[in-house]
Amino acid sequence: MEDCIFCKIIKKEIPSNIVYESNDIIAFRDVNPVAPVHILVVPKKHINSLNELLPEDEQLIGRIYTVINTLVKEEEIDKTGFRVVVNCGEDGGQEVKHLHFHILGGKKLGTKIS
Ligand code: 5GP
Ligand code: ZN
Repeated sequence: MEDCIFCKIIKKEIPSNIVYESNDIIAFRDVNPVAPVHILVVPKKHINSLNELLPEDEQLIGRIYTVINTLVKEEEIDKTGFRVVVNCGEDGGQEVKHLHFHILGGKKLGTKIS
């Protein structure tokens, strides 16, 4: 989608620090990390948010969690623990309107859920 920053990252029009890529999923380091490990796992298909998820996306979302499982081991935060966050909509604090999963870890994370 035009004017979507993550679509531009997927098309390599904007540089990013990519840590994983397949035909339908990309993962890269957040440009403004809030934890020592802060990775965004993103479906290459432009989906605005969780609100726009379709039944046909089920397997894609399952694969995203498999990628997360792999990445936390690579980053060596699987044993110390981590958090996966999906922000949705205004109240959820979603800034980029392309579905993405934050992986946060490498330190004791603060507020659980607020
Ligand atoms: P949201 O608030 O939408 O859940 O999270 C968007 C995230 O994308 C933020 O953590 C922000 O730092 C990150 N971000 C925004 N623009 C870019 C970019 O151009 N490159 C990278 N790597 N991360 C970005
Ligand atoms: Zn997009």
